[in-house]
Amino acid sequence: MSNAFTARRGREVLVPAIDNYLIESSKADADRAPDVISPSNFAKCLRAQYFMRTGKEPDASFIDPKTQRIFHNGDHMHLRIQEYLHKTGLLLMDEVPIWNEYTNVQGHTDGLLKIDDGLAVLELKSMRQEAFNYLNGPKPEHITQAIAYVYCLEKERQYLWETYEDLLSVTFTYSTLEYDTIVGRYAHIHDGSKHTRNEKIAFILGKHMETTIQLRKCETPISDVYFLYENKNTQDFKEYKITFGAKDFEWLEKRCKTIEKAVKTKKLPEREGNSKSDNICKYCDYKSACWG
Ligand code: SF4
Repeated sequence: MSNAFTARRGREVLVPAIDNYLIESSKADADRAPDVISPSNFAKCLRAQYFMRTGKEPDASFIDPKTQRIFHNGDHMHLRIQEYLHKTGLLLMDEVPIWNEYTNVQGHTDGLLKIDDGLAVLELKSMRQEAFNYLNGPKPEHITQAIAYVYCLEKERQYLWETYEDLLSVTFTYSTLEYDTIVGRYAHIHDGSKHTRNEKIAFILGKHMETTIQLRKCETPISDVYFLYENKNTQDFKEYKITFGAKDFEWLEKRCKTIEKAVKTKKLPEREGNSKSDNICKYCDYKSACWG
C-alpha cells in the first residue's frame, strides 16, 4: 500500500512552466525610470549610479527565476503588512509616489502613516534570520533611501501650502495644471503582462492626487520614518523610528547635485571602493565596466 504513495521525482512540469512565465513576464514588466535618481539606489557608489544613468550594460541584466521568486516573496510581505496597517487605521495610503524636480529624485515609498496629528513614512523590509538576529537599527542603505522619501514629501507639502489657498483649490487646479508634468515623468512606462500603459498611468495619477490631498491637509512638517523589519523565517518584527532634519536634507541635495553634474558633464566619478573585493564592490552590477 505504502508503495502506491511513494513520491517520485520524474519529469518536471510545474517548475519549467513557472520559470518560463517569470522570464517572459519580467521582460514585459520592467518599468524603471531611466533619467532620475532612484531612492533605492541612493546608497550605491556614485560611479555605479553614473553607469546606471548613462545606460552602461550591467554585469547581469537578467534576473533569474529563483531571484524573482525571492523578490516576489518580499513584495507579498509588503502587501500583507500594508493590509494589517490599513486595518489598524494607521496607514492612510500605500505605494506613495515621491518626486522632486530640484534633486531629480523619483520613486515611491511603502506608505504614508497617520501618527498622532501628523504624517510619517512607512518603510517595510524583510530579511533572513541570520541578518535579522544581528539587526540593531535600520541598515545604512535603508536610512539614505528614507531621507529621500522624507525630503520629497516634505518639500512637496511646503510647495502645496505655499501655492494653494485651500484643499478645494488643490483638487480643482492642481490635477489639471500638473497633469502633463506628472504623465511626463512616467514616459518610460509601457504595457505589462497584467495592465496596459493607460491603466498604469491612470493608477499612478490617482496615487499622485491622493498624495497631494494628504500633503495639503498635513499642517506639520514630515520628518519621521517608521522602519518595520520582518524575519522571513519566523515572522518576528523589529521596529525603529528615525527623525530626519535640515542637515540630512542638505546632505541629500549635495549628493544629488554631484550625481546630476557627473551625468551632465559625462565625467566619471571616482571609485568608492579600493578593489573588486571591497565590500562596496562585491555585489556591484558594474564591476566589469569599472575595473575592466
Ligand atoms: S565596482 Fe566598486 S568602485 Fe566600481 S562602480 Fe561598483 S561600487 Fe563603485
